[in-house]
Order: sequence, then structure tokens, then C-alpha cells
Amino acid sequence: MVNLVWFRNDLRINDNPALLDASDQGTVHACFIVSGEQWRQHKVGDRRIAFIGRAVNSLAKELASLGITLQLIDAANFSQVPIALLTHANNLGARRVVFNAEYPTNEVERDQAVTDVLQANDIEVVRSHGGVTHPPGSVLTNKGAPYSVFTPFKKTWLKQLQPDAIRPLAPPPPQDSSVHPVQVDHLAGVPVSLGATDWPASEADASRLLKTFTEGPVDHYAHTRNIPALSGTSKLSAHLSIGTLSSNQCLHAALQKSPEKLADHHTRAWFEQIIWRDFYRHVVALFPHVSRGQAFRRQYNQIPWRQDPASLEAWKNGRTGYPLVDAGMRQLRATGWMHNRLRMVTAMFLTKHLLIDWREGEAYFMEQLVDGDFAANNGGWQWSASTGTDATPYFRLFNPTTQGSRFDPQGLFTKQWIPELADVPVKHLFEPHKTPLNLAYPRPIVDHKRARDRVITVFKSIRSNA
Ligand SMILES: Cc1cc2nc3c(=O)[nH]c(=O)nc-3n(C[C@H](O)[C@H](O)[C@H](O)COP(=O)(O)OP(=O)(O)OC[C@H]3O[C@@H](n4cnc5c(N)ncnc54)[C@H](O)[C@@H]3O)c2cc1C
Repeated sequence: MVNLVWFRNDLRINDNPALLDASDQGTVHACFIVSGEQWRQHKVGDRRIAFIGRAVNSLAKELASLGITLQLIDAANFSQVPIALLTHANNLGARRVVFNAEYPTNEVERDQAVTDVLQANDIEVVRSHGGVTHPPGSVLTNKGAPYSVFTPFKKTWLKQLQPDAIRPLAPPPPQDSSVHPVQVDHLAGVPVSLGATDWPASEADASRLLKTFTEGPVDHYAHTRNIPALSGTSKLSAHLSIGTLSSNQCLHAALQKSPEKLADHHTRAWFEQIIWRDFYRHVVALFPHVSRGQAFRRQYNQIPWRQDPASLEAWKNGRTGYPLVDAGMRQLRATGWMHNRLRMVTAMFLTKHLLIDWREGEAYFMEQLVDGDFAANNGGWQWSASTGTDATPYFRLFNPTTQGSRFDPQGLFTKQWIPELADVPVKHLFEPHKTPLNLAYPRPIVDHKRARDRVITVFKSIRSNA
């Protein structure tokens, strides 16, 4: 039987249940659908599209070495996908289409429409779960409800973990055919060379990065993960977000490192980050209102967010007058990645200090991030804005000045991204406006204490009306 594997956010040949399932059933063809218009509606930025393009090129080569052809199909919008896929399957004579699940609402609706059209044409559709360890719906409370708080989710998730189940799957055996791999220069109009030096995108690049991290930095992770000046984290998020690496490959590597029930504190801390990743995927799958731009806690849809385009621009451009915030925002714009500590600090600054809608920040991060991932990004923004699951309490605001002294004590990171502050002594670095120096750097656009009082008043009024 001819099988068609539809690759999406699982651009790898190793540990890919959909690919292996197809190969168990007969001949395999593969496709990747380019939905440029839809990606733009989802705010996917150029750097990320280029990264995906490079990964697709590399996947095409890997598949060709297994005798499998990967073809690219254009369907600008998700609404065009069912007919495009049906036509392609019919042209190949495929009677079976397989893919790994995606969980945001638009993707779920697209997949349902695809399934309806294919099944109506006697083509079998098989959906696997290659992007998570436990599929959404399988980690539930005693009452059978989805979790909305991370720690109990994690406990049940861990209880249900069978180490054998996360052993990465082998790639499929080669097929007896000779294939010339497709290679694209542009994907959805974006040159795939964009950012190539900083963000190599092959499966082999991802495995190398995982190996380097688990052979060294993971041993200090719990101590170094919060210090942006250090390379203390894995930087695997971009690969995990497009599936050139699976979360199970990461978990497996961590378990190999610390086999005795993750006794090592550092490895366990890193392992937990991957569980957070699963958690937000479960949230997106089981609480679909978050995919529709709504607050997880619906009462917070009422927050009267401020319209303040000038402050929003200052935030995006790294010119708020708060050095740690500005350093993070400049890192994001320059590199397409931002350290987790700074994602929290900058997101909280936008939503709490400036009282600007978290959806503005969510969209801007998506446009800039190479690792832009709906579930993790939405989860992170709603956590920071106190509107989400497990969210930080509404009265908790990181003070960007003290966060600076605490997490960048020598000012190395801040000075790297804000050269205007190179000559400011570290003890004044996070309040440069208090020095007599004549600096080409803005004064704070908002006062911390006043901002704190304002946001607490707003949240309190919503809570008392609820
Ligand atoms: C406002 C905000 C927005 C975010 N947007 C994204 C996003 O678009 N894409 C994204 O992958 N992560 C996002 N995160 C989560 C986190 O910041 C990044 O995953 C992490 O910084 C990536 O760096 P790393 O690969 O070195 O992580 P490591 O510390 O090495 O962690 C390993 C992996 O665990 C996962 N992970 C770590 N922290 C989280 C988390 N809090 N939530 C979910 N998964 C996590 C990531 O896949 C990461 O690669 C966001 C966090 C916040 C606060």
C-alpha cells in the first residue's frame, strides 16, 4: 500500500511515530505543505520561516537517503489544505495519510477538515502523537478533568512515565528507490539562508546540540539557568518547536544521564522544563479558548488594557529606560531568541508596568522568535500577565531594577546589549538615570512603584466584580 506522510512540526526521521507507522504499512511518500498566508496570520516571522526552510531541505536529503521522496505543496491558507492534500494523495495513489498531531485550534480544525475529505474518498487517516510524551487527555485529575496547575500535572505525568516508552524510535528502513532531494532557496517568499549561521537547522545539528548540552552544561543547570550572561541553557527550543528534535529524545538523554529516578538535581530541573512544554500543549488542546485569543481565566478578558503605542514601541525597541528589560528586547530583535528569565521580565514589564495587552506582546514575540511556538508562547505570556494557568499572582511584579542586580550582577549581559551604558559603574547600572552621567539612554518611561499600584488596582477591581 502507498502511504503519504504529511510532515509539519516533526521535521525529523528519528523518533517519528508517523513516519515509522507509514513504513510498517508499505511504500512511503512524504510531503510538506507551505501555508505562507496562514503562517503570516499566525505571526510567524521571517527568521522562523527561513529556519523551517533549512530544516525541510535537510529532511528532504535524509529522506532521499532512505529512498523516500519529499514534495512541497502550496496551500497558502489552511482552508486550501484538504483539497491540495487529496489531489496529491490521489496523484501518488496513496490510500493512507499519516501525520503527528498539532494541538492549537486552527490546526485541529484543519486536520479535521482534511480527515473528512480524505475519508470521504476512501483514504485512511492515521494521527500519531510525536510531539509530546503523554498525549493530551491522558494526564487527568482523579475526577477525570484536565489539570490547570503545573505541579500536580507534573506529579501525575511522572507517575505515568514508562522509561521504555520514551526510548527514541529508529528511523525507518530504506526503500529500494533512488531519489533526488528537492531543495528550496525560498520558503513562502523568505530566503532560507536568512540566519543560517546562527541557526543551523538539521536534525544532526539538533542532536549535536543535545549531546553538547547533556555532556556538560546540564550538570550546572539549576545554578546557571537564570543567568543570561552564561550559556547555561540548552538553546534547543527552536529545534523542539519544529521537531528536528523530539521532546522524548531530550527526556531519554536526561534519563541516561541520571538513571536513578533523576536523582541529580540539575538534570531533574532540566527534565522539568520539558514537562512544562508538554503541560502547555495539553492546555492548548484541552482549553481551546486560549487559541482564540482569550485569557485562560476568562474573568481577565475584562481587563481594561491601555492603548499606548509610544510605550509599546519603546518596549519593542529596547528603549524603556530599564536596562535589563531593554537588554532582553535587544537580544530578541538581534538574534531571534531571548533568555527565559528575560522573557518573564520583559513580558511582565509590558503587561504589568505598562498595562498593555499581553496579546500585543505575544504577537511581537511570535514575529521575532526563531523558536516561536504557540503553546509555550501563549502559556508564557498568560503566566506573566497573571491571566493564565498556574499564573504568577496578579500582585507579583518583577522589579526590573532588582532583577538586574540579581541575575546580571556584573552587568555583563546588560552592557553587551546596551553599549550606551558601557561606562556606567555596575552599582548604578540598573538605575542609570540616578547618575550624573550624560548618557544617550532614555530615562524610565514609567515609575515602578506607581505602575505597581496601578496594575494592582485594576486587577482588584476585576476580581471584586467577578
Ligand atoms: C513570555 C514567554 C514567552 C515564551 N515563548 C516561547 C516560545 O515561543 N517558544 C518556546 O519554545 N518557549 C517559549 N517560552 C519558554 C522558554 O522561555 C523557552 O522555551 C526557553 O527560554 C528556551 O531556551 P532553551 O531551549 O535554552 O531552554 P532550556 O532551559 O534548555 O529548556 C529545555 C526546553 O524545555 C522547554 N521549555 C523550557 N521552559 C519552558 C516553558 N516555560 N514553557 C514551555 N516550554 C519550556 C523548551 O522546549 C526548551 O527548549 C516562553 C516563555 C515566556 C515567559
